Parts: sequence; structure tokens; C-alpha cells
Amino acid sequence: MPSPSPTTPGAAPPGSPASRPPPSGREALLAQQPPRRPGLTKRVLVILVLVVLALAGHRAAQVDGWLRPAVITGPSMQPTLWGPSYAATCPGCAAGQRFHASPTPGTLRCWNCGARQPTTTVRPLPADHVILDRAAYRWAPLGVELVRQNPRRGDLVAIGNGDSLRVKRVLGIPGDRISVQGNQLRINGHPVPTVLAEPVEPIPVHRQTIRELAPSDRRSTTGASSRDKTIDPASDRWRYRDPVDGGPRWLVYHHYSLHDRRPDVIRDDYPCNVTSVRRLNPVPRIGLDLTLRVVQPGTLRIALWSPEASQVYQVPLSAGMHHVRVPPPAASAENKILVPSPIPGNAPLPVDAQHPVAIAGLAELQPDHVRATVLRGLHWFLRRSDRGSWPEDERILSAGRYFVAGDNQPLSEDSRSAPEGIPFEQIVGRVVAR
Ligand SMILES: [Zn+2]
Repeated sequence: MPSPSPTTPGAAPPGSPASRPPPSGREALLAQQPPRRPGLTKRVLVILVLVVLALAGHRAAQVDGWLRPAVITGPSMQPTLWGPSYAATCPGCAAGQRFHASPTPGTLRCWNCGARQPTTTVRPLPADHVILDRAAYRWAPLGVELVRQNPRRGDLVAIGNGDSLRVKRVLGIPGDRISVQGNQLRINGHPVPTVLAEPVEPIPVHRQTIRELAPSDRRSTTGASSRDKTIDPASDRWRYRDPVDGGPRWLVYHHYSLHDRRPDVIRDDYPCNVTSVRRLNPVPRIGLDLTLRVVQPGTLRIALWSPEASQVYQVPLSAGMHHVRVPPPAASAENKILVPSPIPGNAPLPVDAQHPVAIAGLAELQPDHVRATVLRGLHWFLRRSDRGSWPEDERILSAGRYFVAGDNQPLSEDSRSAPEGIPFEQIVGRVVAR
């Protein structure tokens, strides 16, 4: 009887497929996996994304919001930002008008022609909504200060605490020299209106289409009727002045008080403040916006009064429609072309505080359409009551202190009553959208 073969029970005979060595477990695993190094990169990326999301979430969840919506409630930043307001169209001259308070019947006057407006034409407008970036200047997640940036001159910032936030414009930053000469606020020696001529739009003072341009204009008077109480400011503000000393023939703008219709300097009673009781200050910064269709090419001269030095702009015009703004906006191409220049001859300029704008050369250009809008800039005067708290000499803003003011100076409570400035900590955030 043969002995059983020395094979292990159950083992496959040599040569059969099952007898080949099986692939090791390590080899099988490697075959199904992506390379080891890219996997690490992916994990690091995921962790980074999570960290960024967590920080952003923390930032967004800070106190009552990183980006916080707010509604403007007051008039101190007009016309840049409006609280609840009202609009009307003058029935006399069709000028648009917007103001901040509900008008009392019989008290609303048109800024352009002085006509009283019936309150039935007044319609309410919603207040402006803004977004405050509360982390624009300081961001300290978990108490660790990661962002600390200084507010810049011109920024619109929210100051205060809790629900009583106020929006103001930063005029002075730490180290700036603040002074008052007469009524003029100066920062580092520069008048504030010059520093902040833009981006705020000028305020219209008077708008009129000028139809009678012929030299034989019957209203061509020299100084006559300047005290005429019966004058109509809506139609008689532009009048020709006869040439003096061989100088040009000027069309001169005469300004009048809307309240008693007497000759007056231009004051800060711009449209949105017409219902307010306050002290009115003279405005030193005047401009002209002119739209005209020229028939005969030529040169226009525009004289603007200034308390420091009146100036003349020479504007060459070809035939066709033109839009001229003097002084030109600082960022415009015209700013390089329209530079003030002397006029020929020795004739005195026809401009002063009550006649701040004059145009020469219209007769030569033969325009068949002229629309003139007298403008003024925004400015920041000190109130009489504030001046007592200001030192005679310059004051330097100390570290961490900012000088802020509202664009609508007559109705704004701001650093003019506390010239040492507000501390950085009172600035809640920056207005980033409106
Ligand atoms: Zn009017």
C-alpha cells in the first residue's frame, strides 16, 4: 500500500493557478491610492480654508456686525448723505428743490427765484441707507489686534456708540495744524474748501436760461437800480455792464437775498436748509456752469470773484454745443486748459462780493442758447459761539485725535465745538457703501 504523498491536505497541486503567490496586501493598497504628497497638500489647503472661514466668520459676527447697515436720520451730511427729506418743483421757475424738514405752510421759498411754494407740491423721499465697515480701522479677533489702520483725510466715518451713531467727514488727522483766520478754517495752512473741493458736488445758487444777449439789451445799466426794491430776482440777475477803459463788455451776475430781495452776498442758505433757522455765512468759493450753443467760433472770458484774488478764465470755443465749468473740476482734462489769466488792457474786473460772476465775449460767439448756473462750494465756517473756544494760534492734533465735520456746516455738530478732535476709539467704522 503506497504511503500517502507528503502533501499538505487542501494544498493545491504544484502548477495549478492557485499555487502562484498572492499579491501582497501592501501592493494592493498602493495600487488604489493617489500619490502620498498631493494628499498632504490637499489637507493643508482644507485647513487653511477653514481657518480663513473661521476668521471671516468671527469678523462678521463681531458684536453687532462687521458690515452694519445704517440709515441716515439727520441733515448734517447733506447733500452728500440725506436723512428723511422732501422734494418739490418750483411752480415759478421749475427748479427742483430738496430739503430735510417737513415744511411749514407759507415758509418754503424757492432757492432759485425766491417764489413761495405751495406745500401741496411737496413729496416725501426716503432716507439714504449706508453700510458701515466696523473693521476698517481696527480688527482684533479674540483680542488679538490684526488690523489697525488710521482714518484718512476725506473718509466718511461713523462716530459714537450704540444706537446713536453720527456720520462725519474726517478733515484733520494726527499731526495736522488746525487754525482759524477770520471765519476761515485752515488745516496745515490751507483753507478747507480748497482741500475738499471734490468729490462733493457744488451747490447751485441760481440757474437761468439767458435769452437777451444783444448789445442793445434794454437792461444794460451801469449800477442803476442796485437798490431797487421792486426788482425781480428771477429775471434780472444777469445784466450787461458797459465797457470801461476800453475793456470788454461784461454780462454781470447780481445776487439778491431771497428773503427781502435786496442785493446781497451769496450765503450758505442752499436748498436743503431753506426751512432752517440759523446764522447765514457768506460763501467765498463761487463757480459757473455754462451750457451754450456757439454759432461763431471765438473766446469766452469768465471772471470769478474771490475774497483773496478774483480771476479770469479764457475759454476758446468752436461752433457747436459746449459745456463749460469754471473753476474746472480738479480731475478733469479742462483743469489743464482753463487756467486763470489776465485780461487785455487795464480795465478793472467787474466782480465783487455781490456781483461774483461775469461773462465777456458772448456777442462775438453769437450763441442761440445759453444756460448759466451759478455754483458755490461746500465750506466749513466756525459758528460765532464756537470761536471763543479756539485759541488764536494754530493747534496741532495730538496722536490718535481726528478733526471731523459735517458737509452741511450750518446744521452740523462736530469738532468745531471741540477743536482738540475726537479720539480714535470713538470712530466706530467707515462708510463703505451708500
Ligand atoms: Zn423758483
